Amino acid sequence: MDLTTKIHLLSNVKCILDDIVKDDSDSDIQQIHKLVVNYIESKCIHNIVTDYIDITPDYGHNIRYCDICMKTFTD
Ligand SMILES: [Zn+2]
Repeated sequence: MDLTTKIHLLSNVKCILDDIVKDDSDSDIQQIHKLVVNYIESKCIHNIVTDYIDITPDYGHNIRYCDICMKTFTD
């Protein structure tokens, strides 16, 4: 499995873990969450894309995010 695929899958895992650690203090899960976050942050070679998000019908703004790890970037 290539690194990009792995990081993409792990970003889904991170999403699930984000939900769990929000209201669960299970230290094993916290540890796994931390490992996943660290892995993604240290290995992802970000591929940043720009997307336009509609907030209301007449207002929106551009966001930049990495389409591999889904991290968002602000200017
Ligand atoms: Zn990334």
